[in-house]
Amino acid sequence: MAEVKFLNIVKQFEDENKGKVFAVKDASFTVKDKEFLVFVGPSGCGKTTSLRMVAGLERQTSGDIYIGDRLVNKVHPKDRDIAMVFQDYALYPHMTIRENLGFGLKNLKTPKAEIEAKIKEAASILSIENLLDRKPRELSGGQRQRIAVGRAIVRNPSVFLFDEPLSNLDAKLRVQMRVELSELHKRLEATIIYVTHDQVEAMTLGQRIVVMNAGEIQQIATPEELYEKPNNLFVAGFIGSPPMNFVKARLEGNQLHTASYTFTLPDDKVKMYKKYDGQEVIFGIRPEDILSTKLMPSVPDKNVYQVNLKVVEHLGAELLIYFDIGDDQLTGRVNADAKLKQLEPTELYFNLNKMQLFDPKTQERIY
Ligand code: ATP
Repeated sequence: MAEVKFLNIVKQFEDENKGKVFAVKDASFTVKDKEFLVFVGPSGCGKTTSLRMVAGLERQTSGDIYIGDRLVNKVHPKDRDIAMVFQDYALYPHMTIRENLGFGLKNLKTPKAEIEAKIKEAASILSIENLLDRKPRELSGGQRQRIAVGRAIVRNPSVFLFDEPLSNLDAKLRVQMRVELSELHKRLEATIIYVTHDQVEAMTLGQRIVVMNAGEIQQIATPEELYEKPNNLFVAGFIGSPPMNFVKARLEGNQLHTASYTFTLPDDKVKMYKKYDGQEVIFGIRPEDILSTKLMPSVPDKNVYQVNLKVVEHLGAELLIYFDIGDDQLTGRVNADAKLKQLEPTELYFNLNKMQLFDPKTQERIY
C-alpha cells in the first residue's frame, strides 16, 4: 500500500523581508494507493513545498506525514521509498545515460546484474534503448525528460513525485509527454503526486486535483467536479480556459439583474438559489456556455441579447469573442462555423442551465 497522508501539515518559512511566511497552512488529505494526484495553483501557493515535504527535502513545521502505514516525519529522504523527478531533470552531465539511470542503484549497492536488468526494463518502457550510451548534452529536451523519469522507474519506488516535469518542453512535446505520463501511470500502477501551475496539465493528468492558493487547499476533487462544481470564486476562475466570466448581479425571484441585462433563471435554479432571493450575488458563466444563435436550430425566447464584438480571435475550430455588457468585459468561446466578425453586432444566447452563483462576501459557490 502506498497511500500518502498529510495530517494538519503546516510549513512556515522565515523570510528576511516579510518575516514569517506560511507556505502551507494546515493541510490534511490522503493520496490513495495507485492514484495520480495533481497539485495545481499559482506561483508561490505552496505546491512545491508540499511535494518536498513528502520527499523529506523540507521538514514540516508541524503535523504528520505518512507513506503507507509509516510515519515518516523523521525518516531520511533516501529511506522514504519515493523517487522524485525535477523540473530541470538533474542529470549528471559527465555520465552516460546508462550510468545516470544506474547511479542511484549503485549507491544502494545493488548487484550489477540487477542494475543492468532494471535499466533494460526502464529503457524498454520509455523507448530509450538507443540512447543509453549517449551523454545528456546529446539528447533533446523530451529525451532528457524521459531519462529523468527512467531514473525514477529503476528505483521501483512506492511513490513517484513530479515537480513541474514538463515546463521546459515546447507546447507540442508537452502534449505528447502528457499522454506518455498517463500511459506510464497505468503501466506502473504506482502512486504519483505531480505538481504543476498549468491547469490544463492538471485537468488532463490528474485523477484528482488539489487546487491551492496562498498556502491553503481550496478544493480536492476530480477534474469533472472542479469544472462543474467549483467550491469558490478562486477555483471557478482558475479551472477552465479562458476563465469563467463573473458579473455582479442581484437575484429577484426568477430574474437575475446585472447592471445592463436581466437574465431569466431556469426553474430548478430558482429553487436552488431561493435563500439568496433579493440579495447581491456574483453571476458566473463559462465562455463555452455563451452561444451564437446563428448555429442554433431555433432562437430561444429567453436570455438572448445583441452585443457588439470588440475582438474576435480565431483558434481554428473555435472563436474567442470579447464583448461588454455594461462595465463588464465578457469572453465567449463559440464554434468557428458561426463566422462572427469583429465590430459587428451579433446575437448571443446565455445558457443559464450551466450558470453558477457565488456569495460576494464569502466567495463560496451558492448551492
Ligand atoms: P512555484 O510554482 O513558483 O514554484 P509554489 O506553489 O511551488 O510556487 P512554493 O515554492 O511551495 O510555491 O512556495 C510557497 C511559499 O513559500 C512562497 O511564498 C515562497 O516564497 C515561500 N518559500 C518557499 N521556499 C522558501 C524558503 N526556502 N525560504 C523562505 N521562503 C520560502
